[in-house]
Amino acid sequence: MKLIFERSKRGRGCSILPECDVPVVLPEGDRRERELHLPQVSETDVSRHYTELAKQTYGVNDGFYPLGSCTMKYNPKVDEETAALSGFTEIHPLQPVHTVQGSLAALAKAEELFCEVTGMDGMSFQPAAGAHGEFTGLLLIKAYHKSRGDLKRTKILVPDSAHGTNPASASMVGFTIVNIPSAPDGGVDLKALKQAAGEDTAGLMLTNPNTVGLFDRNILEITKIVHESGGLCYYDGANLNAVMGVARPGDMGFDVIHLNLHKTFAAPHGGGGPGSGPCGCKDFLIPFLPGPRVKQAEDGYRMSRMETSVGDVKAFYGNFAVVVKSLTYILMLGKEGVAEAACNAVLNANYMMRKLEDLYEMAYPGTCMHEFVMDLGKLKHETGVSALDVAKTLLDYGIHPPTMYFPLIVHEALMVEPTETESRETLDTVIAIFREVYRRAKEEGEKLHQSPVKAPIRRPDEVQAARKPVIRYEFTEA
Ligand SMILES: *Cc1c(COP(=O)(O)O)cnc(C)c1O
Repeated sequence: MKLIFERSKRGRGCSILPECDVPVVLPEGDRRERELHLPQVSETDVSRHYTELAKQTYGVNDGFYPLGSCTMKYNPKVDEETAALSGFTEIHPLQPVHTVQGSLAALAKAEELFCEVTGMDGMSFQPAAGAHGEFTGLLLIKAYHKSRGDLKRTKILVPDSAHGTNPASASMVGFTIVNIPSAPDGGVDLKALKQAAGEDTAGLMLTNPNTVGLFDRNILEITKIVHESGGLCYYDGANLNAVMGVARPGDMGFDVIHLNLHKTFAAPHGGGGPGSGPCGCKDFLIPFLPGPRVKQAEDGYRMSRMETSVGDVKAFYGNFAVVVKSLTYILMLGKEGVAEAACNAVLNANYMMRKLEDLYEMAYPGTCMHEFVMDLGKLKHETGVSALDVAKTLLDYGIHPPTMYFPLIVHEALMVEPTETESRETLDTVIAIFREVYRRAKEEGEKLHQSPVKAPIRRPDEVQAARKPVIRYEFTEA
């Protein structure tokens, strides 16, 4: 399809404006020397251009989107409606507090409910994304050790199955990373953990269920080992979909967490809008939380800052509208509904896994949580068809492929997360597609290297795209 600049025709526009009758006051030297490069298009062109773009886009409103570790689930429309209420949108962060009591009440309620869901005592909504929440949480851990004069704790333990953002965040906060191997069952290797935890341990970063979709049954033992060494336990709560309302990181022994409201709590993501990665903690870490804190006083809600805070990690209260969406989501589901959503997410994943395991080898065959990992190593060896080929072939059937080549510890990984918002009928259709693709892999073998044949873009050079992205239009005219 044509880019908007390629549709441009000199002199064409969307509106008819009178001659400018305001005098030009900018001095000569400060004025633009050439016309600004803007596409010159009619309203019809603009409308058709974006409609065409929208048709080539695929999102949760188009169909199945099983992107493991990303929780691409349906976002209820009511969440958007409340976030768009003028009482929330037509305000300014510097307005007097007595004029924004409703928004402060929403923040206070969100803090209360997310603390209840996670077993934490306080939460800041400043971080704008998951990785940002990790960074913030690690700042709390650093501040805590520093406040006790315990300066030798420079290491963060990270299991080898961790999301890539975990070691990256720890490194940005200035910690050294110690890699903890996984045991054959996919959980943390306790012996290796015991050996690594010691006087220099600042903390452990863990996600449970972990990135292979398994709940680590040794979790109480794991957090105990770290605490006994004097370290703190950080819970990566990006994917709370399997446990929300059912089990709480706070009860598992974690001291600090982040959530991805834009994964678990139904805020759109993946190009769908801003995110929010609130950072929560136990009582003893609250004094270090970033940003202004909402407090209820006798005459209403107030904002206050703490001397001991790690400082702001974002302006004002973070992406406030995202918090409103997630708050709506929780309130609409209610206590039972949140737990039921989690249970259905786990049920859907196990249903799909069982209906595929006779063909596709599962990396960890036991009961999974909200997602499962297939290992296509054997299929590749037998047919030449890789995880990439299977993912690309799925595009021809009109569904979004699962996450591929993650977690890194499974080499030909496809990681499937159906989520609770898919019906039994959709799952059955998708299962049939996966089975069909397997049959084709066996029969057609390397022919699948050509897939997809129906998509507008087939096999982009991903390395070039990542290393040398072309993000600017090259204008030919001066
Ligand atoms: C998505 C994810 C993150 C990072 O979240 P962003 O909002 O993309 O920064 C961290 N940990 C896990 C396990 C995730 O799945």
